[in-house]
Amino acid sequence: MKKIAIIGAGISGLFVANLFKENLDYQVAIYEKNTSINLDEGYGIQLSTNSIKLLNTIGFNTLESKDRFNPEKIDFYEIKHEKKICDLNISEFNSENCKYTTLKRSKLVEFLKDRLEDNTIKYDHNIENIEKNNNKIILTFNNSIKESCDHLIISDGVFSKGKSLISNNEIKPTYNNSIAIRGSISRKNLNNLKEKNISLFMGSNFHYVIYPINNDNEVSNFIGVLKYKLTANELDNYGLFKEEGFIQGIKDKLQNKISANILDNLNDIKCFPVFISKGYLKPGTNISLIGDAFFAFPPSFAQGASQSIEGGYELFNDIANNKNEFYNNRIVKVRMINNRSKLNHFAFHLSNPIIVFFRNIILKFLTKNKFFLSSYLGKIYKN
Ligand SMILES: Cc1cc2nc3c(=O)[nH]c(=O)nc-3n(C[C@H](O)[C@H](O)[C@H](O)COP(=O)(O)OP(=O)(O)OC[C@H]3O[C@@H](n4cnc5c(N)ncnc54)[C@H](O)[C@@H]3O)c2cc1C
Repeated sequence: MKKIAIIGAGISGLFVANLFKENLDYQVAIYEKNTSINLDEGYGIQLSTNSIKLLNTIGFNTLESKDRFNPEKIDFYEIKHEKKICDLNISEFNSENCKYTTLKRSKLVEFLKDRLEDNTIKYDHNIENIEKNNNKIILTFNNSIKESCDHLIISDGVFSKGKSLISNNEIKPTYNNSIAIRGSISRKNLNNLKEKNISLFMGSNFHYVIYPINNDNEVSNFIGVLKYKLTANELDNYGLFKEEGFIQGIKDKLQNKISANILDNLNDIKCFPVFISKGYLKPGTNISLIGDAFFAFPPSFAQGASQSIEGGYELFNDIANNKNEFYNNRIVKVRMINNRSKLNHFAFHLSNPIIVFFRNIILKFLTKNKFFLSSYLGKIYKN
């Protein structure tokens, strides 16, 4: 029986552990630096059909339907005039059992965690050293705890310490010059928005998205991305983003960007800087990276979690079938998504009124063009 060690119990680590758990040739353990997994946070996540299909292989379709939502369309709005530009029928990519889904991130994590045996996740294990000894990989946690494995999967997120350790600190994520603003808002404060749809508002150097996260129709998720310069000192001070003063400063900046009706009724606001990957690291034999540790995208295509799941699935098949093709295939998909994410970000944040005018015309055309949609979205949503 081969030992698989996974570093990090996020979406990617938990999902790949679920796949290995079903295969008797492998024994799997996840090493997580925190002492528990936080299941309280209520923020939302969007999952496209490519990841829903893979999640269904481990029973996601049995999750209670009240805990998830299947939006029909994406409605595009211009912030300035609060005017709807067009809509895109996202449900066209759905099939009977596989639908574009929004839900609370914590519901997804809970589902993935609850399917594992209690002792699979070893909490309070902060990775500190990775070394190879013949065919074994020796891991050191918290100064002294030693574990060995046959294959190491690094899935410890965008600031991956595992990746730093195997690359001698060479590959680091970079600040994307934007702050993400998360919050929730009661549906009753969203008078004019279509309840069954994702609403995407585009403005100068800022866009935000509002969508339901379950079927109770009471609270919707808010996620905004604001262009924001930060100094090196500010970036080093992670506590800054939790400070009341900083959050109030961001709210002040948003005064003329979001209608007062929405801004005044946002709850549980949290801000954090968006970091993205610039390059790829190809680790040595029997070591793999997945999720944000492999590559973190700008969040304008809502694919990070879906790709964490897809990457986990590909890696599992690669290891179980001894193929050694994971890296090459993954990099092709990651490049496609990264380019689309950057293009979306650019188009969502345009300022010049003339360019905005033409963007809106192009958007109206493209969102109804089947050829474009099957290439721009369909290629990503199929696997
Ligand atoms: C603003 C924003 C909005 C987004 N919205 C969406 C969306 O709608 N849809 C979507 O698909 N994606 C979205 N994403 C992306 C998505 O959230 C991530 O891609 C995904 O969560 C990555 O999962 P992961 O498992 O790779 O990493 P993480 O979720 O970051 O998990 C990493 C785990 O590793 C642990 N860890 C860290 N360091 C160590 C260590 N030294 N030792 C041991 N354990 C460690 C951490 O505690 C954590 O549990 C969004 C991202 C942002 C920034």
